[in-house]
Amino acid sequence: MEIREHRKAEQLVLKAMAENSVGPQIECLCNNPPFGLIRQVRRSLNWINKRDLKGIAKIILVEEMPDYARSNDDSASTRGFYRYKTKDSPAIIILSIRELYRGIPWFLWWSPVPTLRIGWTLAHEVGHHLIFREEAFMTEISLDKEVRADKYAEIVLQRMTRRWYYRVGQWCINDLADWYFAFGLAAAQKKRYQVAAKRFYTAWHLNPNIENVADYYLSAKRKSISQ
Ligand SMILES: [Zn+2]
Repeated sequence: MEIREHRKAEQLVLKAMAENSVGPQIECLCNNPPFGLIRQVRRSLNWINKRDLKGIAKIILVEEMPDYARSNDDSASTRGFYRYKTKDSPAIIILSIRELYRGIPWFLWWSPVPTLRIGWTLAHEVGHHLIFREEAFMTEISLDKEVRADKYAEIVLQRMTRRWYYRVGQWCINDLADWYFAFGLAAAQKKRYQVAAKRFYTAWHLNPNIENVADYYLSAKRKSISQ
């Protein structure tokens, strides 16, 4: 009787372990990844509900997003991409490390800054996965897919920033964005539009909520082309 109980407990542990290992595999294809990258991705993954990750086989880390994964060269979609399951291949998420680490100085690579950046994009792509699975996690069915994926990412970010550690990280990101924006303005004033465009782009990626930041970027880019 006792042995049977013991076996049952053992089986339960094995089952729990198997369930835990169901999470997506992380595959890094970057030549020279920032130190601590895999750890940062794992940390970000921990903030996403395991149930929501079900069905995602791999998270592939690349330097730059392949062309087929870009919907628009200038949009924030260059950071992450979700490819749904097909007959021949399982669902995957691709993350562009260059874009996710854009504007983050190396001394912040071990900080919550990359975790938050990766966490948001990862959650956005998981949002697409959920939409694809048609598991209604929100009631606003009429909302655009991107808006719904953003909403899912916002929920994950809110959960993260309830901890002071990540709150400080978020302040850091907003501060960095403000700096890049200010440097962008300074460059634009000197008519160095190419530099200005680059800085506005970085500011936009770090904090898309800066007022009219996308317009500043597009305007500087236009001017740099006609220069
Ligand atoms: Zn999206």
